[in-house]
Order: sequence, then structure tokens, then C-alpha cells
Amino acid sequence: MATEKIGLYVHAPFCVKKCSYCAFNSVEKPRDTSGMCTALSTEFIRRTQQPDLEYQTFYAGGGTPTLLPPEFWKRMIDMVRAPWLKEVTIETNPAVLDAIDYSSLHIAGFNRISVGVQSFCDKNLKLLGRRHTAEEARETLQLISRTGFKNISLDLMYGLPGQTPEHQKNDIIEALSFMPQHISTYDLTLEPGTPMGNRGEKASEDQCAEMYHQIHEILTANGYVHYEVSSYALEDKYRSMHNSSYWDRTSYIGIGPSAHSFSGTKRSWNIPGIPEYESALLKGELPEDSSEEITDENAVNEILSIGFRNTNGVDLNELDKFGFRLDPTDLLHTGLIEQKGDFLVPDEKGMLFADLLALKASELLEKTSGV
Ligand code: SF4
Repeated sequence: MATEKIGLYVHAPFCVKKCSYCAFNSVEKPRDTSGMCTALSTEFIRRTQQPDLEYQTFYAGGGTPTLLPPEFWKRMIDMVRAPWLKEVTIETNPAVLDAIDYSSLHIAGFNRISVGVQSFCDKNLKLLGRRHTAEEARETLQLISRTGFKNISLDLMYGLPGQTPEHQKNDIIEALSFMPQHISTYDLTLEPGTPMGNRGEKASEDQCAEMYHQIHEILTANGYVHYEVSSYALEDKYRSMHNSSYWDRTSYIGIGPSAHSFSGTKRSWNIPGIPEYESALLKGELPEDSSEEITDENAVNEILSIGFRNTNGVDLNELDKFGFRLDPTDLLHTGLIEQKGDFLVPDEKGMLFADLLALKASELLEKTSGV
């Protein structure tokens, strides 16, 4: 029987407190998380027990997945543990420093950990509504590296209101002092309905662009590979396999409230509400909210928007498979991409303008088949 390579995402929807910029589906952790653990396990069993699936990556995200017990995560990983399971990641937050037994998580099977540091400046952390200090972030990173994790990713945020490129440089320099295997850097997004989104404050566009280029300059000078607009790996082997599989349009199964799944031709997503999610599973139903079939046109636009965000670029042959041709002449004139064989590859500046490039490319598409 043919097997299918697939990624697995598990969404743990609890946090210590909500951060001021966050629009992810998460709520404050209740005292008892056993109902959610049971619901996640139940959905997991129902969705993942097909013998022809090869789970390559397992990603525990959220929320703050380290707020769920290590024994729970061990049971989940044990259910898909196989020689082809390569990357097993969990996200964590320095605000839960004392409560977490990182050794147990490592022993449970996680071989990669992503730490939401965001900044090493207490003023910025307060502004972001983070529940940890810069010192707690440092202690968390030190603790994790002592517990056996050899693949640590560190998240930083930039473009904060009042932040200058000079301030932001301090964050990068301090992040480098830990030499994490991976660094993700995110431009602050003002999400409607969040306290920071409602205030509408952020560094100017010019300053954000300057910070983006500064990050690229410093990290690449220190040996990191800039392989996606927000992502840097210390060596190629430390590129996030799980995220890369999203960008390659590999199928994945998402477990948990609001988690999305993708089968190559269909995208579906779960009920976001936690009580509704739990009660659907208690009733023996799958907690799917809705789904959509992916048309060839949708697929091609996804390939463009993802491709211009990373250094693998856009594969023109892939567009052809969906019945579209792209004459890249006008795009090449922008000076933001170059053609390498059948691939259109953005440079560092091109990745920053990925959305514009994708829009322009979409306008230039020609249909080669169909009616
Ligand atoms: S810790 Fe992460 S998921 Fe939780 S509220 Fe903050 S940003 Fe959102």
C-alpha cells in the first residue's frame, strides 16, 4: 500500500494570560486541563490511525503547549512514534519557567523546542503584555540547553511602537549570545480586536524595513541562513521541517480547537470554541467546523504567495501542473527575484515584498489547459 508523508499539528489552546497583541485561539489556562487532554487525544486517535500515513513531523503549538502535562505529550508522541518521525517540536513561554519540567519533555520525545522570547527588554515585554521578564527568558534558555535539547529556536518580535533599529539591535545581539540553532523574527502585526491592534501603534514602515534588513545583516554575518522571510537556521539541517512542509504544500493534520488540516486538494478547520470542541468529541463527532476544496487557481496563488516568501522560490513546473504558465520577464525587471533554472527565487528584499510579487505574478498568469 502506498504511504503518504504527512505533518501533524496539535493545538493546545491555553496560556498563562493573553498577550496584548495576540489573536491566536487561546484562553487563560483553567485549573483542570484534563478535559482538553482527553478531547485532544480522542481527536488524535480518530484522525490519525490510518496505517498508510507516515508522520514526518509533530508540532505542539498554541497557546502554550508546555502548560499541558509532559505525560500527556508522551502519550501523543508514542501514538505516532516511528523511524520516519524526524522532527518533534514544542513551543514554550518563559512565563512558565518554574512549572515546566523540560527534561520530561525531552524524554517524552520532543527533539526541538521553540521559545517565545520576543524581546530581551523589559519595557518591550510589558508593552507586549508578556508575562515574563527578560531575565526569565534568559533563565529559560539556559535551563533548556542544560536539559538535552540540541535544537532550540528563539522567537523575536520587531516593529514595536517606540522601538528604534538601535534598540532592536540589542535584542539580536543578545539572542546571538545563546547561539540558538534557529531564530524566527516577526514584524509586529496589529490584529484587530487586540489591545495593541486597537491602539494602532507600531514603528513606522521605514523603521520596520530597516530592522528587517538589520536582522538579516547581523544574523547572516554570524553564520545563519535566511531561508524564509521570518526564519533563520544556523545550518541547513536546522531549518524547521514542519514549517517547510507547509511551504511545500505537504499534507498535514491539525488537532485541537480551530486547527486546520490540508490534504492537497481540501482544507478543513475545526470548531474554535473550547466547550463546543470538547462536547463534539464527547458526542463521538469529529469537531470539524468547515472545509473547502482547493481549486487549481487557489493552489497556484498559494504557490506564489508561499514561494516568494522563501529561498526555495516559485517552481514554474509546479504552476504548469495546475494548468498555468507564468512569463517572468516583468517580475525579473523588479530586481527583487532572479531565475534559477525553473525557479523564481526572491532575494532578501524580495522576500519582504512577497505579497506584492505574488499579486503581480498572479496578474501575469496564463491558463494553459481547461475551459
Ligand atoms: S503566549 Fe503566545 S499564544 Fe499565548 S497569548 Fe501570548 S502570544 Fe498568544
